[in-house]
Amino acid sequence: MVALASNSAVVVFSGGQDSTTCLYWARERFSDVQALSFDYGQRHAIELQSAAKIAAMAGVPHTVAKLPIFEDLGANALTGGTAVSGDLASNGLPNTFVPGRNLFFLTYAAAWAYSRNVQNIITGVAQTDYSGYPDCREDTLTALQESLRLGMEADFKLHTPLMHLSKAETVRLAEQHGGLEALAYSHTCYNGEFPPCGDCPACQLRAKGFAEAGVADPLVLRAADGV
Ligand code: ZN
Repeated sequence: MVALASNSAVVVFSGGQDSTTCLYWARERFSDVQALSFDYGQRHAIELQSAAKIAAMAGVPHTVAKLPIFEDLGANALTGGTAVSGDLASNGLPNTFVPGRNLFFLTYAAAWAYSRNVQNIITGVAQTDYSGYPDCREDTLTALQESLRLGMEADFKLHTPLMHLSKAETVRLAEQHGGLEALAYSHTCYNGEFPPCGDCPACQLRAKGFAEAGVADPLVLRAADGV
């Protein structure tokens, strides 16, 4: 078993609200933090722009890895031409579901971390509040950590600081770790709009979380200021 550096961490970083919160959480726990984003054919370039901006604000080195395999898997609303809707498909999942996406991301992140002597891998998945993506659940992540440790013979640790938090609790966690200012640049809207559309399921979930936390969403404030 390879002993990786315990002070080092990589945050799987989409530029969204959850992974931004994780980035600021990680910065206080580990002395050597890096952010890793994936260019996987997502419809909106704004996501990667948000990621680059926030990583710079946080003073964290940022890498974008190309992972173009999802476009070949077939249509879904995040990479294909299918429209986003709140309706469930015949498999009971929203049409924003990309099968196995987090498994690919985390496996890639582990291989990336291995070659850079990084022990800790942080992901902003949560099984609360979400639509039931099976690769965001705790039992999946626990099993995956074991697979990564066995499969690469290295002592990886997968961290999921948001796993059991509501959206409101995630907002408070960002606030505690000094991440609120960066959330002004985080991207959430499924329609890729700025100012955010306010109507899609992602915008509505985000708005509900900030409202319940009693915190004004800095992204909405920035949009209102027209910057
Ligand atoms: Zn939206």
